[in-house]
Amino acid sequence: MEINKTKFTKELMATVLKDYPLYRRVYTDVPKTLPMSLTDLLPDVIYHECEHEKCGRSQPFNNADSRYLDKTAAELEKVVAENSQRVVGGLGMLGGGGVPSYGVYSIHYRCKVCWFSELWWWIEIGYDTAQGTYIEKVGQSPPLQLPIDGRLIKKLGEDQKLFRRAQTSISQSYGIGACAYLRRIIQNKIDTLIKIYREKRVNQDAGEEERKALDQALGTTIFDDKLKFIKQELPKGIEVKGHNPVSLMYDKLSNGIHDLTDDECVQVAQDVTGLLTEILVGLEEQNESKRRYNEGIKALAKKPTTGLS
Ligand SMILES: [Zn+2]
Repeated sequence: MEINKTKFTKELMATVLKDYPLYRRVYTDVPKTLPMSLTDLLPDVIYHECEHEKCGRSQPFNNADSRYLDKTAAELEKVVAENSQRVVGGLGMLGGGGVPSYGVYSIHYRCKVCWFSELWWWIEIGYDTAQGTYIEKVGQSPPLQLPIDGRLIKKLGEDQKLFRRAQTSISQSYGIGACAYLRRIIQNKIDTLIKIYREKRVNQDAGEEERKALDQALGTTIFDDKLKFIKQELPKGIEVKGHNPVSLMYDKLSNGIHDLTDDECVQVAQDVTGLLTEILVGLEEQNESKRRYNEGIKALAKKPTTGLS
């Protein structure tokens, strides 16, 4: 993977802090010695949702007393001074008299507007022989909240528990777990998904054979047969070529669970979450609007024509 070559920037650090799940390593050329001021590593401003009543929206947050956890500032200064002397005396091991940056940092930001809301992250800078230096988020408060579509939660009903567990797994980089939860949702919701998809295809004038295949899928109670039927007659020229979106999601999740790494599965789980939302919410809303339109037309057609001519 290309991650090894990611250039270290303050923007990269901001992305890791704000958006990355816990324990996902980013291999990057972070400075090897500890800067005395963490401003060399940290973004000047981070925009984040502030929940304080004064704010209640995205606000700028500033660094407030972020620090290296392994030593106090005084201890650090002592080590730097000692190392510098060793360098002067020709015994330097570290090349620049600095302290290696490997260790854990407590990163603390405060809302610049209300001065009340705080954001905390714990970041480890480390090194492994295979891929070099990395940064890894090992904790945060408040916890990472992945945006959850309220309309999707409503459509999921009982299965929202599984969905929330999938989201929690994504936020902690347990992608394989997330894929397993999502696959269970597809199993539980298979008929609903097929019905929504069938209605869309009928509205798009799906051919007789495609309708038949989708009806057969709905008519059987055996899950594997449902998958076989929906794969049988594929829509032409729409969706991903050769894939019904329901079977596509199921296959991608199964493939992830069997063959991919946790990190790769996080991506699969995020993609499937998007498609699941698109079908259960987006497509269903389109179908509903088409239904209302058809009913309106029918009602108008039935009305006797009265009045002026
Ligand atoms: Zn605020």
